[in-house]
Amino acid sequence: MSEAELHVLKARLRGGILNKVRRGEYRCALPTGFVYDEAGNVVLDSDAQVRETITYFFETFDRVGSACQTVKVFRNEGLNMPSRPCNQAAAIFRPLTASAALRVLNNPRYAGAYVYGRRLYRRSANGKKTVQRKRQFDDWLACIPEAHPGYITWERFQENLKILETNGRGYEVARASPPREGAALLQGRAVCGRCGRHFRVRYATRRGRQEAWYVCDRAHGSRGEPNCQSIAGSPIDEAIGALVVERMTPAAVELALEIRTEIEARHEEADQLRCRAIERAQIEADLAQRRFMLVDPGNRLVADTLEGEWNDKLRAMAKACEDREHGRQEEQLVLDDVVRERLVSMTTDFQKLWGDPGTPNRERKRLLTYLIEDATLIKIPAAGSTRIHVRFKGGKTETLTVLNPKSSAQQVKTQPQVVELVDKLLDEHIYSEIADLLNEQGLRPGGSARPGRGDDCFTASRVAYLVHRYGLRSRYDRLRDRGLLTKEEAATRLGIHPCTLVRWAQHSIITRLAYNAHAYLYEAPELNPPVKHCSRWNPLVDRAATIKAAKVSKPSYQTEGDAV
Ligand SMILES: [Zn+2]
Repeated sequence: MSEAELHVLKARLRGGILNKVRRGEYRCALPTGFVYDEAGNVVLDSDAQVRETITYFFETFDRVGSACQTVKVFRNEGLNMPSRPCNQAAAIFRPLTASAALRVLNNPRYAGAYVYGRRLYRRSANGKKTVQRKRQFDDWLACIPEAHPGYITWERFQENLKILETNGRGYEVARASPPREGAALLQGRAVCGRCGRHFRVRYATRRGRQEAWYVCDRAHGSRGEPNCQSIAGSPIDEAIGALVVERMTPAAVELALEIRTEIEARHEEADQLRCRAIERAQIEADLAQRRFMLVDPGNRLVADTLEGEWNDKLRAMAKACEDREHGRQEEQLVLDDVVRERLVSMTTDFQKLWGDPGTPNRERKRLLTYLIEDATLIKIPAAGSTRIHVRFKGGKTETLTVLNPKSSAQQVKTQPQVVELVDKLLDEHIYSEIADLLNEQGLRPGGSARPGRGDDCFTASRVAYLVHRYGLRSRYDRLRDRGLLTKEEAATRLGIHPCTLVRWAQHSIITRLAYNAHAYLYEAPELNPPVKHCSRWNPLVDRAATIKAAKVSKPSYQTEGDAV
């Protein structure tokens, strides 16, 4: 046989195969879990263990949402995946691998579809078949859904493919990794407000607690630049949780349903308009037909024109009918009362589920997947806050502002208002008095924020520390500014011995003010200063009593000076 004949034969055989393929009749090797029965139909494997394991595999993937997690579940539970190599009747069980899991998830036959030509093969020089490339879905030679029984539905299969695709974008800009057990709710959904890249999530255990951070370190990884932003996770997660619970209220669902009813009413109106269009097209087509029928068959030119017109009208009518059908299909989703009630009850269930401490974070993140598209975070260090722009699935946006947690140093720092108060109190009080006043007002020193130091109170030495640390003007200087004199100065001015001055001060003949717990400054009046009496005839006690009595009867005594 010549080369040409061989080529023709081969082409005809190939043509025959392709014809069978298009009808879904061409027999090809089946994946594990399917067999051909005597009649040549594809049926599920008769081995119950094989069937159950494959069903469990798909259930596990639904639950965990990732091929690798499925492999982990199988390993932890000690399960093996069946495999039936070619030409072997008995299935062998071996540990599930990630590649096997992906192969099963990507195989449309498990969804009961007959497919052929998903890959393009080519024979290499040694005669072996090698995969040249994968074909796009549209280029498959055959794809007949629901051709035979399957383990999952066709819709489920396509959803699984979508999940796999988003999971596989780990290192792309738009990272939407499968939800993990960590506490950072915005995992894979937080976008950096400064550079537009996706945040990575970092966890660390500090003081026995696990803390999460959103870190934008892509530039660090690729170009060694410093981290773009690093934001503590807990306040952001709390704000997002509160927002989601607040939004998922029965009132919100009722409102959405009201809008839906209104839209349905509009659809009815639109449908009526489309019906009118069909009627009009029908009338015009009838008219064109009548005109064509009435024309003289001998007058070919006119007849041709009228026939063309009739055809156009018929085409217009067909299009109007098609438009109406298309529109109706789109609007078919009508919500009845049962669905409405279910939606309302779901919101309360949602709030319960979200607030339940037993709900794993993985499930919370999954719930979030249905609500939030992404959230952009911008840290504002000057204000000590972070701005969160949340984008909901429906396209609505919401902006939140949360306070960043304070650093350890900031936490133990004394509050500025306490320092201000101390500054004010220094005019009238000494350190120990100020400490008592602060404690009375329920204020606590900064150090009380440290673990186990909650009972710390202000003491004189703590107040002294604040005064020195914040450079407040000392009480001594303040009193000196007010014109108070030291013991020696006052004694010199009054012309008495310092010991006499002290005794006078003790008996309130002159005023003295403490500038610390042990020392005083003295007021020496310029007008009518007290003079020394003979204590034999006028003891100090009597003199003090006289002054006191004079002060009570004549409050303006001080301004007039000491007349005693
Ligand atoms: Zn960034």
